[in-house]
Amino acid sequence: MTRFIFVTGGVVSSLGKGLASAAVGAILQARGFRVRLRKLDPYLNVDPGTMSPYQHGEVYVTDDGAETDLDLGHYERFTGVASRRSDNVTSGRIYQTVIAKERRGDYLGATVQVIPHVTDAIKSFITADLAGEDFLICEVGGTVGDIESQPFLEAIRQLGNELGRQRALFIHLTLVPFISASGELKTKPTQHSVKELRSIGIQPDILLCRCDRPLPESERRKIALFCNVRSEAVIEAPDVDSIYRVPTVYHQHGLDDQILAILGITDVGEPDLSRWERILRLITMPEGEVSIAVVGKYTGLLDAYKSLIEALIHGGLANHVRVNVSWFDSQIFEESDSLHRLQDVHGILVPGGFGERGAEGKVAAVTFAREKKIPYFGLCFGMQMAVVETARNVAGLKSASSTEFGACEHAVVGLMTEWSKGNETVTRPVGGSLGGTMRLGAYPTVLKPRSQAAEIYGAQRIMERHRHRYEVNIAYRETLEDAGLMLSGLSPDGQLPEIVERPDHPWFIGVQFHPELKSKPFEPHPLFASFIKAAVDHSRLV
Ligand code: GLN
Repeated sequence: MTRFIFVTGGVVSSLGKGLASAAVGAILQARGFRVRLRKLDPYLNVDPGTMSPYQHGEVYVTDDGAETDLDLGHYERFTGVASRRSDNVTSGRIYQTVIAKERRGDYLGATVQVIPHVTDAIKSFITADLAGEDFLICEVGGTVGDIESQPFLEAIRQLGNELGRQRALFIHLTLVPFISASGELKTKPTQHSVKELRSIGIQPDILLCRCDRPLPESERRKIALFCNVRSEAVIEAPDVDSIYRVPTVYHQHGLDDQILAILGITDVGEPDLSRWERILRLITMPEGEVSIAVVGKYTGLLDAYKSLIEALIHGGLANHVRVNVSWFDSQIFEESDSLHRLQDVHGILVPGGFGERGAEGKVAAVTFAREKKIPYFGLCFGMQMAVVETARNVAGLKSASSTEFGACEHAVVGLMTEWSKGNETVTRPVGGSLGGTMRLGAYPTVLKPRSQAAEIYGAQRIMERHRHRYEVNIAYRETLEDAGLMLSGLSPDGQLPEIVERPDHPWFIGVQFHPELKSKPFEPHPLFASFIKAAVDHSRLV
């Protein structure tokens, strides 16, 4: 029997509802339960794939090729459970489904309405594609009171009724701000937010109160009284130094005990939080540190690089070091006298990106890393730029480029309109719409025996997640290999270069996929672990 925990947020956005949900999943898992996490996003885009990283932050890609909200990344990192397409839905997709049904005539002449048709579609999404998990934790995006999230709140209200007290639980995340003028923590915003929630028929069972200092007993009792919640179920959620501390802190404040008590679950032992404690020890007591330069484009909003930041931390955990990241907008390297700013870093990473702006700066950073033998890691666009760099500066094809920036004589990176997935051929509609037209999701890569990539993975065949339109042009294989850039990973049909590496360099690897999406704190991605190890080795030289 799957139980449902609904997580809503109040007062302000950015309280970390995604992390809170992920942490709820992690502590229930630590108590031996099977969990799955899902997110309902109120905006009208069908998925976040078409949104600018500045609007939305990272687009998290699942194995089955869905472009989803970055909170799904937190879910995977905290629970190790791979997310699926069925774990994220937007209002846009819900309406698209309802309207398509209406056009087919599926509603048999009825007037199609938000209640029941839209709410039914939301409820079927929430309850579909489960495989006997003990808990489904369902986060509702946005803040209570937003017009857009109302159908979602109405749907979870209905579900709460239908499932009954033993199977549904509502957690509301709020803010208890400290007002310095009066020197007090204030409970009024929480009271108002819960009032709003109750006015639409949802009585929260648990309040998770974000605060920057301990919540005094008197304030907890006040919140309990005004919000109609038992005072033990008013849980303090303090600011913490590392996101990986959240599960243990929630446990210390009794969150999991309250969840189990409210749902009437008894006979469960204490949680095993040892893996979280181990990670925290490594984070708080590193044996050294390295500095990594990330040369990107969206450096003004670090949410755009959420998984990357975490994967670098994980690489540090694997090597017992703290990773200090310096962010560089690649455009600054278009003036050659700025490259010295990369002189003292222990590794250079060019992450995924789109469009021409700043691309030349990335190529310049690659040249610097290659020539100075600084560890280089290129992710997706960062691999493509490494290929362009070798083609131009080592193979001597001065006009080499990517057709993403327009037609060119030597298209070492170009648009693929067709590729194979298993036994099928996937075709991209040329000139079609932008939404969902990239090579998306998990694809296999066959590694070249004895290459550095094969050694790092300890495997011959791997699966990694993709999100891109352009591919390295296999026609230039010989040119690139003669120039020292080995194609060490290819798609099984040998047509799509997936990994490049430089045997003449201490650590120079570019990958067409996004390994950062699969890295976890208790299972650092091998490429990130190896890159940070190379950075540690380099730090001993400088
Ligand atoms: N812009 C490149 C492409 O579409 C790279 C995309 C990426 O880095 N995710 O192929």
